Amino acid sequence: MTDATATRAVFGDLGQADELVFYVLALLAVIVFLAGSGLRLRTYLRGRREPGPSRLAGLPGRLARAGVAIASGRAVGRGDRFAGIAHLAVVWGFVVLFMGTVILTVDADVVGVLAPGARILSGPFYVGYSLVLDVLGLALAGGLVAIGWGRLRDRQPALGTRTADTAVWILPVWLLALAIGGFVVEAARIAADGYPSFENASPVGWLIARAMGAAGVTASDAARLHWWLWWAHALAALGFVAYLPWSRAVHLVTAGVNLALRSPDAGRRLTGVGTAAPLPDDGHMGLRDFSDLTWKHLLDFDACTRCGRCHAACPATATGSPLSPRDLVLDLRRPAEGGLIAGGVISAEALWSCTSCLACVEACPVGVEHVPTIVEMRRSLVDRGAVDPGLGTAFHNLARHGNSFGRPARTRASWTAGLKTPIRDARREAVDWLWFVGDFASYDERAKHATQLVARVFQTAGLDFGILYDGERSAGNDIRRAGEEGLFETLAEHNVKELAGARFRRIVTTDPHTLNTLRFEYPDHGAAHEVRHYSQLLSELFRDGRLQTRRPSGRIVTYHDPCFLARYSDVIEAPREVLAAVGATLVEMPRNRTATFCCGAGGGRIWMDDVGVRQRPADLRMREALALAGPTGAAGAAGPTEFVTACPKDLAMFTAAASWAGAGASSRLAVRDLVELVAEAIELPGLAEARA
Ligand code: SF4
Ligand code: SF4
Repeated sequence: MTDATATRAVFGDLGQADELVFYVLALLAVIVFLAGSGLRLRTYLRGRREPGPSRLAGLPGRLARAGVAIASGRAVGRGDRFAGIAHLAVVWGFVVLFMGTVILTVDADVVGVLAPGARILSGPFYVGYSLVLDVLGLALAGGLVAIGWGRLRDRQPALGTRTADTAVWILPVWLLALAIGGFVVEAARIAADGYPSFENASPVGWLIARAMGAAGVTASDAARLHWWLWWAHALAALGFVAYLPWSRAVHLVTAGVNLALRSPDAGRRLTGVGTAAPLPDDGHMGLRDFSDLTWKHLLDFDACTRCGRCHAACPATATGSPLSPRDLVLDLRRPAEGGLIAGGVISAEALWSCTSCLACVEACPVGVEHVPTIVEMRRSLVDRGAVDPGLGTAFHNLARHGNSFGRPARTRASWTAGLKTPIRDARREAVDWLWFVGDFASYDERAKHATQLVARVFQTAGLDFGILYDGERSAGNDIRRAGEEGLFETLAEHNVKELAGARFRRIVTTDPHTLNTLRFEYPDHGAAHEVRHYSQLLSELFRDGRLQTRRPSGRIVTYHDPCFLARYSDVIEAPREVLAAVGATLVEMPRNRTATFCCGAGGGRIWMDDVGVRQRPADLRMREALALAGPTGAAGAAGPTEFVTACPKDLAMFTAAASWAGAGASSRLAVRDLVELVAEAIELPGLAEARA
């Protein structure tokens, strides 16, 4: 039975003077909080206007989605369940204790004043309230301890000093002190009140009170102790409120706002130079100075919690390059009016190390958008002529020939020469599928073999398709991410014109980089089409029975998800469906799907040399796969014997990595394009001769 008289005094044994002092201090804390928040807001409002679509469109939906992501622990739990559960406990504990304090305040200062003698916190409601607050207080304390333990245990060495900086401990330690302090204050009150039986609905406070009693603390001792503890707790709580907007702890608020305002297309769909916001007076491009930062950049930097997930996921960091996405964000936090950021605060070497793999954006629990920021800084470097020499050659080749190989544009379709059945020219006759082949698939020697197989497999399936022949140019995805916006626009303009002159219903491409740009960026340039990756089309052809497996592969394979396929375009299952259709057994690498590890080719890195890089991303990835393959590979190992991918650049990068990896790596693990397994499974005629 619940005691109908159950209740407690709000200020307990505190006198009217205490109450008055408390409210004055509370008012001061709120004023300091508002002043700090106002200054923060003013800093954001001083940031430049952001180009592109407004982030405020659909704000209620954005807020609701961010709220659900935070309240469910999904935002933090992605890729780290332990951290997700710990944060969930902290978020719910914090929110419920805050709501409990609000109820207490209303009870004392609204109900108590308007209707003296009436109480909200009485009877069964008080008992339930006590229980809920104690349990959630325990969750808050447990969550904070778990976060601290996680940081201390295994994260520090991998994340370097900036995540382990002592400043990052201020917030959790302060919150933990508040949570524990709340229990001790409660215990002193229970002991001072003589242990009323209904108070055992506050199990933690009750146990501590009983322990006090067992230690010889009398009711009058407890009442005196309560006064001191109550004030210590109140000052710590008010101090926390005042401190919040002036400190790094501000991310408690900014992280949620940033998550709500993040763009789902961040990195996928870059905005052009001067498309919506005017260029600065001197016409410079990209992020050059602190004054070029937009309000969203500034919010991003404030939202960063230093969790280090982007740092741990970054292939550039892993290979010893000077880039860490976390450090980049932290370094940009310190605004210095007129200070150079691209090639200044952030070194050019760090900026050129980025592969645009999007792993940082994917990993970030608070929606920080590193990739567009890096590209904007690269634009500034390109604007000032500070480019890597390898990149300079690629720029020249693309400007002159429309391909990065420096080969005449008229030879683009020379890979078709060996085909018995010619491919139709979509500029001359109508086709269902326009195959946008892409640079690497057209010119790279290793990739060309796969490209020819794709053509023959499509022909075998009776697909109605054609290509643009010498009308096609590089789609420009990588050149854009390298910061050469003008060249990207020239290439896009050419291709859009060619596409407009061709007759087709939809586009298929072999190249995930091209897929991204055609899908997400060409619509801004006047070419909005349905675009698919060839793995999606192959999967459909198997499903429809237009491709049939005659000789099941029977091989054990591992599959590498290309970043631009899995992370950028969310094409994850189609290649796996194709592997299942050809009868291969898939063994996943530890980093798979959207957690894949970059080959190191994206963002123009494929054109730059690797001087100063400790080890290439492709080498690291190959080692990850070789660890599955076992020591003997094809000669009797239970692990995979083939390393399959679905990107022409990956094919080139990993073929090279397998030969560098040494110890007979290429004989233990053969690097294959997905279509090679398809061609074998459907018994494409003349395959053995072609391979020979
Ligand atoms: S895009 Fe990839 S390489 Fe670039 S900073 Fe992010 S994780 Fe690192
Ligand atoms: S940018 Fe995001 S992922 Fe990186 S440290 Fe900050 S909060 Fe963590």
